[in-house]
This record gives sequence, C-alpha cells and structure tokens, in this order.
Amino acid sequence: MKAAVLYEVNKLLSVEDIQLDEPQGQEVLVRLVASGVCHSDLHCIKGDIPQPLPMVLGHEGAGVVERVGPSVTTLQPGDHVVLMVSFSCGKCRYCVEGRPTMCVGNMDTLAMGSLPGGAKRLRKGDQELSHFMGIASFAEYTVVHERQAVKVREDAPLEVVCLLGCGVSTGIGAAINTAGVRPGESIAIYGCGGVGLSAVMGAKLAGAGKIIAIDTLDKKLEMAKDLGADYVINASREDPQSKVMELTGGGADYAIECVGNVEVMATAMGSIHGGGKCVIMGSAPIGSMLSIAPYEFLLGKTITGSVQGGIRPFIDIPRFVDLFMDGKLPIDRLITKTYSLEEVNDAFEALEKGKVMRSVIKL
Ligand code: ZN
Ligand code: ZN
Repeated sequence: MKAAVLYEVNKLLSVEDIQLDEPQGQEVLVRLVASGVCHSDLHCIKGDIPQPLPMVLGHEGAGVVERVGPSVTTLQPGDHVVLMVSFSCGKCRYCVEGRPTMCVGNMDTLAMGSLPGGAKRLRKGDQELSHFMGIASFAEYTVVHERQAVKVREDAPLEVVCLLGCGVSTGIGAAINTAGVRPGESIAIYGCGGVGLSAVMGAKLAGAGKIIAIDTLDKKLEMAKDLGADYVINASREDPQSKVMELTGGGADYAIECVGNVEVMATAMGSIHGGGKCVIMGSAPIGSMLSIAPYEFLLGKTITGSVQGGIRPFIDIPRFVDLFMDGKLPIDRLITKTYSLEEVNDAFEALEKGKVMRSVIKL
C-alpha cells in the first residue's frame, strides 16, 4: 500500500509502497478515506516533537473497518470510524473518572511511535516504521487499537468528520469543557487556526453572549465571523488586550490561547476579569517558559489547559457528528482545500504559509 513516510526531520515526506501487518489482539485494520493535515504533523517534520523515525505521519484519519483482530469486541468489518489521537484504555484511574484523554496508556503512542502496548505493524522490507500518534493515517490502510477508533453513523462524510479526530474536537472541547462557557458569557479566543475557529464554534454552540476572535490575518478573522464570532480584533493593528477590556466592560469571562506563543498566553491572561478563566491550548516550543505576575492569582483568576479539549471520545465524537449533520456545527467550512496523497508535501507547504484554514488528504 502507499503511505507518506518521514525518514529525516526537515525533509520532504516520501510517498512510497510499504507493508502493513495483519491486526492482532484488539487491533483493527482500517481502509482510510481521508486524513486532515494538522500542525502536529508539521511539528513532527520540523523536529519540534522528537519522534522515532522513520515514521508514517497523519493522525486525523477516518475510514472503514476491513478486518478485526481476534480480541476486538466493539467494531466489525464495514463500520465507519473516526480515528482518535488520544488512546483511552477504559480502565485506568483517569478513564474511570471520566477524563479519558488523560489516560496513562497515551504515552506509548506519543513517545514511542507505536500502537498502545508497544507494537508496530508498518514495515518497509525488513525495516520497522513508526505510527504517528498510533494512527499513521497518511496511508491507504492502517492498523489501530480499537480504543482509538470511534464508530460513527454511515451517512456522515468521512472526508469532513476525519477532522474530529484531533484539532477540531480539541477546539470545541476547549470552549465547552475546559473553559465551560455558559449561555450569555463572554470569551476571547486568541488565534484563528483550526483549533481557534473550532473554539469559536464550540462557544457559539454553548450559547456564549460575546465571542471575540483575535488574529493577525484578516482572512482568518472573516472566517471567525462567519462561524459565530461577534467581534474580531486584528492584533497587528490594535492592542487586543485593551480592546477586549473595552468590549467586555472590564475583561472577558474566559480567554483561550490557540497560538502557542508565551506572550500571547500572558495577553490572554490579562484579557480576563478577576475570577475569570484562561485556557492554554496552543503548543509553545519545548523549553519555553510562561511568566505571569502572581497578583493575577490574587484576583481569583484561573489558568489551565487540557488534553484534546477534555472530550470523552466515544460519547462526544458521535454527538459532534450529529450536530454537524444537523447543521449546528459547520466544521466542513474549515476545509479550504483537498489534496491527493502524492501532494502531501504541497499540503504542508500551504499549511506552513498560512494559505489554508484546514486541508484534507483524500486517500
Ligand atoms: Zn492534530
Ligand atoms: Zn486509561
């Protein structure tokens, strides 16, 4: 089968024929239909997230189950699935507490480039290849653990709902779960990429009274307005913190940072009123430090973050799919371009240059 393999950081992906082993135990073999192109893949290419190479990238996949391992109980051939970046074992303390994206089993897929438990099923001749985030979806087929494959309704377009595997559900969850926006409340969202725009949609869905979106690109701000932002601020022309203060009469109830820049994080913290909550979703370069004046905490402010927006994948993903199908969560509007697998390097170039909101590889 064809797959896009990263052999060295800062090099182009090689689209080539590789081999895939049969699913064992609780694994399922999925024929991939589409995979979103996300910044996390780009971080991996740039070496910002050190990974065991060579590796098949891609982690926002969706497809159809073809074969299942002997111990699989939740899926069968023909099921449509959205693949989840976060593995949840269903048994550890976090899973039992209802916080499955914090599952202790996640480290295998994140750090070892393997499936949960350590196995690898991808090969190029004798050479073993790693699976990015346990998904490896820039490929015609993949093998994943059944706990990373969420069954969804068959009438949902897989080339759209694949986005729910990572960034989009992270943004929606950041607004609904991590911030916990309630009807009428105000929220300032810094950064209008895939996660930030999804946070706008999440805030809208939760009934926020004032949604303020901040970015430096007018094109992205227009999109934010289309998706439900009540006000937009171009931070290259206006001071966003004072503008948020003005719009909210003294600070927003919540701020979400989706940029991954420590200065923007401090600005987000400065944009909320006493007792407000600041949510950090952007991934700042490893080694960077955030500095906040401690008096902010004496004002009762909270600063926090979450793994994948604190969603419960097996409950929330089918729900988000229903909301999309009912026209209440227009995630398809985020997709500005589709590519073939052969064009994967063009897709990353466009992502890096900010030319696309979200793009999808059709497999
Ligand atoms: Zn992602
Ligand atoms: Zn667990």
